[in-house]
Amino acid sequence: MLCAYNIFQMGDIVAIEKLLNIKGHNRFCPRCSCNIKGVRNITAGTTIYHVPLTLPMKDGEPKKSWDPFNLPLRTHESFAEVTEDMDCSETVTHRKELTKFHGIKGLPALRRVGSLHFGRSTPWDFMHLAFENIGPNLVKLWSGKYKGLGAGSEDYEIEEEVWNEIWAEMAAATHDIPAQFVHVLSNTPGYFTAEAWCFWFIYLAPILLFGQIPRQQVLHPHLPVFRNHKIVNIVDWVQKYEEYYYQYREDHLSACPLTIHGLLHVPDDIRFCGPEWSTWTHWGQCTI
Ligand SMILES: [Zn+2]
Repeated sequence: MLCAYNIFQMGDIVAIEKLLNIKGHNRFCPRCSCNIKGVRNITAGTTIYHVPLTLPMKDGEPKKSWDPFNLPLRTHESFAEVTEDMDCSETVTHRKELTKFHGIKGLPALRRVGSLHFGRSTPWDFMHLAFENIGPNLVKLWSGKYKGLGAGSEDYEIEEEVWNEIWAEMAAATHDIPAQFVHVLSNTPGYFTAEAWCFWFIYLAPILLFGQIPRQQVLHPHLPVFRNHKIVNIVDWVQKYEEYYYQYREDHLSACPLTIHGLLHVPDDIRFCGPEWSTWTHWGQCTI
């Protein structure tokens, strides 16, 4: 008899929310491997929560930040503990408060599968995280088309004429790139697949964007995850990202979606579940 044990749950953010029975992204306690709490733009009255490491600056107050090296990770037991507390709550209001605070709605869907560790068996899917979110969002930031956000005190936006040249150069280079490197690379990013974004960021962006973004030496366009084996650099990258795009401004909180924070969990995911390519949903493209 062949026995199989399910040890991972894989999928994008929304799929994992359903599997773990937890509150969605953009919430006070979002779908995350830790119990970080979101913050929202109170001044503007928005209801969407974002998850920067450092809270927005307030006049005269020192910056407050979560410790990226010691995030309050969710445990396997926490799901049962919170659910038990919810079941014991005497009022509906208290139950709702517990759900909001912990981000847990109940026991996970596969609660009876004993081989799963609910705190560690759901690695962040790197394809959705980096190639379908962080990468395209960076290009939107550099194009001045990200959620109506301006560059603030920085100067990283690239003129449209320059972008047109960049895409034209890319299209010209595509003719000479063997298909083994990338299957499809359309002339405009609007039609990029995750595979195309991956290839673009690793191999083309460093050359096509060279000299276009000030402070490139501290925020190189490709993600450090790919090029630098010291995974501690992920923390460095996220902190520099916040300094550069979010600038600790309440009205720039939208620069810190859950996907930026999710990068901080990649080192633990690698420790607990193996290399990113062994658990991502990049089916059919297992090596880069
Ligand atoms: Zn987290």
